[in-house]
Amino acid sequence: MEKRELMYVGKAKKVYATDDKDLCIFEYKDDATAFNGLKKGSFEGKGIINNRMANFIFRLLEKKGVKTHLVEELSDRETLVKKVDIIPLEVIVRNVAAGSFTKRYAVEEGTPFKEPTLEYSYKNDDLGDPLINSYHAVALGIATRQELDEIAKIAFTVNDALKEIFLNIGIKLIDFKIEVGKTSDGQIVLADEISPDTCRLWDAETNKKLDKDRFRLDLGEFGDVYREVWGRLTEYYK
Ligand code: UDP
Repeated sequence: MEKRELMYVGKAKKVYATDDKDLCIFEYKDDATAFNGLKKGSFEGKGIINNRMANFIFRLLEKKGVKTHLVEELSDRETLVKKVDIIPLEVIVRNVAAGSFTKRYAVEEGTPFKEPTLEYSYKNDDLGDPLINSYHAVALGIATRQELDEIAKIAFTVNDALKEIFLNIGIKLIDFKIEVGKTSDGQIVLADEISPDTCRLWDAETNKKLDKDRFRLDLGEFGDVYREVWGRLTEYYK
């Protein structure tokens, strides 16, 4: 597999073309951003943890029947993935109130929900990724109703699997974001990454935040908690 031109530079990774038009290479950086890119930071080795953790989780999800873009981990920071057309929605599942939800509805952080919730943000940096409902998404041609039904099914399957994976290592899954894309043969698959950048993870005993909120809220121990989660995962699963 030959790495070719840089196609896209994201906030936390770069995407390269390959000599196969249906495959590309992710290269994870150590950078972190928050608040639509306004706040910037990093720690040494973050890209390595996120690359390895996302692939590890995607492999576990595939065992539960979730189709993903993952092809092969190439190195500490690089992964070969299927090229997909990303559906421009951030698909967010919540089990417990946190983040923007607490502000939107004046609910106390940590309030558990009677049922998991699902919401979409329209991926558009200029607009600041606004909340969008499924009717709006269909009206704008972002996805068909059928595709949204499939996306919801993927999101809740991922939630069930992730909750179990994290509970096994003493962590509560508060909420998370996924992205999905369409492969060249029209299949909808889980894409992008799942890592402490994209999930809220609280220690099951102490409720200590073990995710990107440590960076967003300047709580310190940003790198320490990523290493902690990755350490617990590898300890339990290997
Ligand atoms: N999230 C993400 N990328 C985003 C926005 C949110 O990965 O651009 C994740 C976030 O880490 C959290 C979940 O989605 O696990 C819900 O985030 P929320 O809507 O509360 O937004 P935030 O408070 O992070 O802005």
